[in-house]
Amino acid sequence: MPAAVANPDQSVAMLKGVGPSVTEKLARLGVFRIGDLLLHLPSRYQDRSRLVALGDVQARQECLVQGQVVDSKLAYGRRRSWLVTIEDTTGYLGLRFFHFSNQQRAGLKPGMFVRCFGEARLVAQSGKSNLEIVHPEYRAFREPPPDPQPELTPIYPTTKGLGQGRLRSLIKQLAAMNWPEDTGTPYKTLLYLHQPPADATNEAIEQAQERIARDELTAYYLVMKQRQRDRGRYTAIALPRAQQLGRQLLDQLGFELTGAQRRVVREVLEDLTQRAPMLRLLQGDVGSGKTVVAAFAAIRAAEHGMQTALMAPTEILADQHYLNFSAWLEPLGISVVLITGSQSTRERKLRQAAISDGSALVAVGTHALFQRSVSFRQLALTIVDEQHRFGVHQRMALRSKAGEPHQLVMTATPIPRTLTMALYADMDVSLLDELPQGRLAVDTRVVRDNRRQEVVRRVAATLERGEQAYWVCPLIEESDQLDVAAAEPTANYLRQLLPRQAIGLLHGRMASDAKAAVMNDFKSATLGLLVATTVIEVGVDVPNATLMVIENPERMGLAQLHQLRGRVGRGSQPSRCILLYKGPLSTTARQRLQVMRDSQDGFFIAEQDLKLRGPGELLGTRQTGEQQFRIADLGRHIHLIPEVATRGDYLLASEPHTVRELLDAWAPVDAGHISV
Ligand code: ADP
Ligand code: MG
Repeated sequence: MPAAVANPDQSVAMLKGVGPSVTEKLARLGVFRIGDLLLHLPSRYQDRSRLVALGDVQARQECLVQGQVVDSKLAYGRRRSWLVTIEDTTGYLGLRFFHFSNQQRAGLKPGMFVRCFGEARLVAQSGKSNLEIVHPEYRAFREPPPDPQPELTPIYPTTKGLGQGRLRSLIKQLAAMNWPEDTGTPYKTLLYLHQPPADATNEAIEQAQERIARDELTAYYLVMKQRQRDRGRYTAIALPRAQQLGRQLLDQLGFELTGAQRRVVREVLEDLTQRAPMLRLLQGDVGSGKTVVAAFAAIRAAEHGMQTALMAPTEILADQHYLNFSAWLEPLGISVVLITGSQSTRERKLRQAAISDGSALVAVGTHALFQRSVSFRQLALTIVDEQHRFGVHQRMALRSKAGEPHQLVMTATPIPRTLTMALYADMDVSLLDELPQGRLAVDTRVVRDNRRQEVVRRVAATLERGEQAYWVCPLIEESDQLDVAAAEPTANYLRQLLPRQAIGLLHGRMASDAKAAVMNDFKSATLGLLVATTVIEVGVDVPNATLMVIENPERMGLAQLHQLRGRVGRGSQPSRCILLYKGPLSTTARQRLQVMRDSQDGFFIAEQDLKLRGPGELLGTRQTGEQQFRIADLGRHIHLIPEVATRGDYLLASEPHTVRELLDAWAPVDAGHISV
């Protein structure tokens, strides 16, 4: 039977093993059609041909190992687990499973051999430290296993509940179809990247990636150019100066605007007076005071009886914007409502009604704001906070309906100018390049974790002064389990050491109302110390918090560390940030932490990060598992940008067919998660 002819526009639902649940998970990855799946390329490859002797295994290293089972037992800790110990002539290694079947246990009895793959980590047990792999991929053998075959295993970006194995099996089905030769869309190159031959060189893979990255960046550039052109065709509601409500807010604020804030407010209000829709990117370092700028824009719309939607990436941040906006706008007679996914249906209905009858002039919320059931009476302005979190895919998707409302997009990510030009080719840019007066620099210390006791004492002293503190644990990629494991034991440990203190715990796996409750207790100072994963990175504002301890800062990007550190130093008290690293550090890691110690300037830090590590880290939210581009990595592909712009302009002028093909492959209109 000849292989089926591939049709990239067909739904992924036609593949074997793709029911409603897998369809929904793929949709979360932006994969709707066969063609999208083809473009869902591996983020890296594992070399599984090199066996590591058990005695040579190192923590935080992925490795292929094998050995003979010497022990297999159930362990009853905080959670029940099954622990298998294997040995070879050089040492021992633990394999731990939290989910397992009796059948699995029967298949790994002492005396059996096992070959497995995974990342080892160091665990402390009754004073000794041991290496373990949690949930390794493994295969059991009765005899010592044969030598491993050379093999490059692709590792895909994925989402909760969708395993690597499933993705690989779907890709296998694609590969079996009949694809045309590379002409417009480079099908063969894509398939090569999904299934490179075992002996493929790094250079060969990089070359193929570059070919695809060039297409993706070009498509992105084309989308931005198209949006810029489309904008001229739409008309927005012109919002000229009306009443003096902005003046009233100025009088009530309790602080003077910085020069930069005044300039940017003028730029934004000037845009709003036009009939051409505003599309403005507001860049400003953490703490530069972007929120109040947004408030002035919303006030201008409200003066005309027009509505504003303010969208934030997390509920915590939406809550906080809601509090600020209500405090500022309600006294002016402007009604503000909050819409989030965790509200009860009844609550949400009431607020939706206020939005559709126009009695609420400002709606603050998360993505939930843009569901179909929320309809505005007269939306004149949308404000999106922390733009980079919404990622490139959504930006591509935004084009479908963008145009009518004015748009203000705010980001704290300092983006170097060349990149801004390419990535935000469709936008005007305003810069808040001045921090409010009297802001004290955050005294930053780099401390090795063998001085943890001292750090805990400092936390205690801070809390005893009536100030508050954060203790931040890293979010471990691709593993919610380990993520919780990182913050929870730390909270328990600190509760033991500081029994008189109120200590809260916040992590990504908590339900959103539980998260909100913890955040509220911290805001009201019911909790003195908040142990959290990096979910607090964005936007949280508690001026009484003066100390932040960050665990494993060597594993985080500098942009992220800078964002985190921006949570302290918001009040009048001197603040401190302790970067509690696990030694020893590599030279680069040491340099990176020194940059944090020596500078408070987001742009400088971003530049140094670029030098020491490449811009993928700085632009992306790689650490949180979100992807910017599907394949392009600005760290490696930044040199393509001038060429991409030239090619893009040429295609627009003379090859409309190629333009359509590129856009259709990379930015299908119906892939939108958000429509504005
Ligand atoms: P970001 O730009 O990081 O979003 P925010 O808008 O959250 O910053 O502002 C940080 C804090 O600074 C808030 O508490 C805000 O009320 C305050 N703030 C904003 N502008 C000024 C100013 N000009 N003077 C003093 N405080 C300000
Ligand atoms: Mg903010």
